[in-house]
Amino acid sequence: MTERSLSVAIIGAGMSGILSAVKLREAGYTDLTIYEKASRLGGTWRENTYPGIACDVPSHLYCYSFEPNPGWSHQYSPGQEIQAYFEGVARKYGVEKDIRFGQEITRCEFSDGRWQLETASGEGGSFDFVIAATGVLHHPNVPDIEGLDDFDGACFHSARWDHSVELAGKRVGVVGTGSTAVQITAALVDQVEKLSLFQRTAQWVMPQENPAYTEAEQARFREHPEELRELRANIAKLFSEGFANAIVDADSDGMRAIEERCRENLETSVTDPELREKLRPGYRAACKRLVISPDFYEAIQKPNAELVTSGIERVEKGGVRTRDGRLHELDVLVLATGFRADRFMRPMNVVGRGGLALADAWSPRPVAYLSVSIPDFPNFFMLNGPNGPVGNFSLIDVAERQLDYILQLMELVRSGRCREVSPRLDATERFDAERTEAAQKTVWTTGCRSWYLDDRGIPAVWPWTFDRFREEMTEPVLEAYELVA
Ligand code: NAP
Repeated sequence: MTERSLSVAIIGAGMSGILSAVKLREAGYTDLTIYEKASRLGGTWRENTYPGIACDVPSHLYCYSFEPNPGWSHQYSPGQEIQAYFEGVARKYGVEKDIRFGQEITRCEFSDGRWQLETASGEGGSFDFVIAATGVLHHPNVPDIEGLDDFDGACFHSARWDHSVELAGKRVGVVGTGSTAVQITAALVDQVEKLSLFQRTAQWVMPQENPAYTEAEQARFREHPEELRELRANIAKLFSEGFANAIVDADSDGMRAIEERCRENLETSVTDPELREKLRPGYRAACKRLVISPDFYEAIQKPNAELVTSGIERVEKGGVRTRDGRLHELDVLVLATGFRADRFMRPMNVVGRGGLALADAWSPRPVAYLSVSIPDFPNFFMLNGPNGPVGNFSLIDVAERQLDYILQLMELVRSGRCREVSPRLDATERFDAERTEAAQKTVWTTGCRSWYLDDRGIPAVWPWTFDRFREEMTEPVLEAYELVA
């Protein structure tokens, strides 16, 4: 069998796009093109620059396994530092030269055994493989609140932060109580005159201190890389045993321990009993994506902070009118209202074998075999696609394992064993049925609304342990694939 020289298009230059470029080159793929719609790389960390942004996955786990960073400033590092890390990795591995910045892929069609790509500016290209490294939470969910356009002050989504707007001494409203809103609240409360947090649903908050690494610790990590590797392995073990594996079994001891820590945090951190009750969720901890914060309760108890629990009636010129008739006068309104989690690479128009549109393949909802590929979309792979373990582990670790798996599928083509590889429809349907069944056991189905749930209220994410994910990603089971010679 002869090895063919194959071209690969990578869509997106965020965490998983950069990873793809590094690993594909290492695997001997030299014909790489990375399409990036923005003018800078970084994905989530480029787009989210709101005050207080940090990652709640420990820094030494939230980095590439092949590129540890002894210099992380904190156990949980700020967003800007993470962005700088990705820029540094891209520079070190020469990724930038392969990136076509400002090129948004609008169409991606499989025809005559190759993928034909088109960008918004009319560029095109033909490729043997496509890797959609397009991210998960990147389409802002702008709420349908009456009068939003009538507001006289500045109004923006948390992922589109307007840094030209002065906040000092202003009356700032924040809509939402997810991980984003909680970080914004803690970061802004001491800068602004008044902070009004509009809560539709209370959130459980896991307390988590965030100590800085001392210079001596950083120097030690630099001098002893083996200690850093060991630290990473320990964090990964703790994270999967204490969190990721616990939440997929709502009856587990681990799950009960998480609930107890959150409950205790609420009881001991919030002194005013009325405020405490307003902050008490009516569902189990981790049913929604757990909010992790060392300082949210402290922030919301400050004299210039107000937790508004009466629902939003409408937005007016001067502020937000709540259902109790009160007008909350504001200068700035921040929509920390999350993302449309079912979009994935859309609105890109993807057309597979025989003219099958992704919109039809994903009707009524996105499905992917083991989260990485779709029947009738040969030689097309996704990183952090539908049904993966997005909410309960480091997405970097997830993407690395998925890419190792994808490389094995690509090897089938490169080695000449087949020309096209895609998952079988029956294997995909079986996977989806098993996944749906297993989801019933998770804490995500215990009575809350969250971005984990699909249009039927069934968790769309990986419902098994991280150990199972690791195992599945070790090697493809070829019976599940259709190999076209
Ligand atoms: P989110 O968790 O989806 O929260 C959105 C918030 O907006 C919820 O409180 C929601 O209320 C509220 N909301 C939405 N529409 C509304 C409306 N029309 N009226 C009133 N309230 C409305 O979004 P997020 O906070 O941006 O976080 C998304 C995910 O990103 C997180 O779950 C996490 O996975 C990740 N993230 C991680 C970090 C970190 O690592 N520290 C930081 C930020 C984000 P309901 O609860 O009632 O729906």
